[in-house]
Amino acid sequence: MGQGLGRPERSKFVRLEEYQTIMTVEEEEEETQHPADASEKHSQKLKSICGLADLKNAVGLYNIGLSCCLNSLLQVFFMNRHFTAILRRIKVPFDAVDQKQSVPYQMLLLLEAMQRGKQKSVHPVALARCLSNHGVKLFVLYDASQLYLIFWNLIKSQITNLDLAENLTELYTIRLQEYLVCQKCLLETKKNSSMLMLPLPMFNHDSQRVWTLEDSLHCFFTPEHLTGDNMCHCERCDKETTCLQGVKVTRLPQTLTLHLKRFCSRHGNATRKISHYLSFPQTLDFSQILMPEQYQADFPEEGTGLYDLFAVVAHSGSASCGHYCAYIWSLPEHKWYCFNDSSVCQVAWDDVKSTFGHTGLHWSETAYLLVYRKKESATAV
Ligand code: ZN
Repeated sequence: MGQGLGRPERSKFVRLEEYQTIMTVEEEEEETQHPADASEKHSQKLKSICGLADLKNAVGLYNIGLSCCLNSLLQVFFMNRHFTAILRRIKVPFDAVDQKQSVPYQMLLLLEAMQRGKQKSVHPVALARCLSNHGVKLFVLYDASQLYLIFWNLIKSQITNLDLAENLTELYTIRLQEYLVCQKCLLETKKNSSMLMLPLPMFNHDSQRVWTLEDSLHCFFTPEHLTGDNMCHCERCDKETTCLQGVKVTRLPQTLTLHLKRFCSRHGNATRKISHYLSFPQTLDFSQILMPEQYQADFPEEGTGLYDLFAVVAHSGSASCGHYCAYIWSLPEHKWYCFNDSSVCQVAWDDVKSTFGHTGLHWSETAYLLVYRKKESATAV
C-alpha cells in the first residue's frame, strides 16, 4: 500500500451546511408534525441495533471538512466491541432535543447507520453537529490526542447510567502511583493518579532518540533525579533537597492507549513534528518491559500485562497541515484494515509497520496513537 492513502479526499468533501439541509428535512418535518411517530422510529432503530452482531463489514466515514481526525477516532471506538457493548446499553434520552445533544446517542445512531446501511461509507454529520454544540470546533484539524480526550470525556459525562459510566472508565483508564523520594532522609510521598493515555517520549532523559516503543516505555517509567533548580521541598528535612521522582503502574485497562509525543514545541517555537523511526510490536508484554517495582497491580487477577496491538492512529504531513487515518485490527476477521475517511481497505502488517516513521521523510505517515487490547484467553468471546 502506498503513501497515497495519507492524502485527504478533497473530491469527496461535503460541506456541513449543505448536508444538514439534505439530511434533516424529512426527519425534522416528521419530528414537528408527528413527534410520537418520530420517537417510535428512533426506538425501532435502537431495537434493530441490539440484535446485530459487531461490525462485520468495514464501513467508511465521509470527510465533512477536516474531519479525518474525528473519523479515525470514531472507527477506533466502533471497532472495539467492549466499547460498543457499553454504547448499546446507554439510556436513550426521551426528548428529541436531548437526543440531538447526546454524544453517546448520536454515536449509537451512526453505528447503526454503518451496520444497517448498504453504503460503503456514511456521513457523520449529525454527530459532528452534536459535538459542535458541545464546543468541539468543526473544520479544524485537531491533534488526535486532544480530540480523543475531549471526545472520551464528553461520552463519559453524558452516560447517565452510573454503572455504565464506571464500566467505560474501567475499560480505558490507566491507574498510576506517582512517588517522590527525598535522597537525604528517604522520606517517600505518594500520589495516586489516572490517565486515559500514557504520553510516551521520543527521546530519553539524555535527549537521545528512542528507537522502540519498549524503550520509550522504559524511559517513561525510569525515575528521574531532581537536582539543582528542580529540587523539591522535603517536609522532614524542611528544605529543598535532591529527590527521586517516578511513576509506577497500579492498573492497566483492557483498552490501553499510548500517545507517542511526536509533536513538540520548545522554547516557545512553533510546534514541530518528530518523524523519526520508532517501532512498536504486535504483542506487548508489560511483565517483560517493566521492573516488578514499576508494575504493582492492585488486582493481579486481572491479567498478566500481555497486550495485542488493536489500532494505530497515524498522522501524515506537518504539525500545522496534515491528515489522519486509522489502521485497525478486525477481531472477527483477523485482518488489518486501513480506515482513511470514506476509503477502507484491507492491509497487511507490513503496511501498518510503514507508520514506524523515517527521519528523512518528514511528511510521511507516522503512528501517533497506539491502542492495545488486553490479551484474552482462547475461550473468551
Ligand atoms: Zn528529606
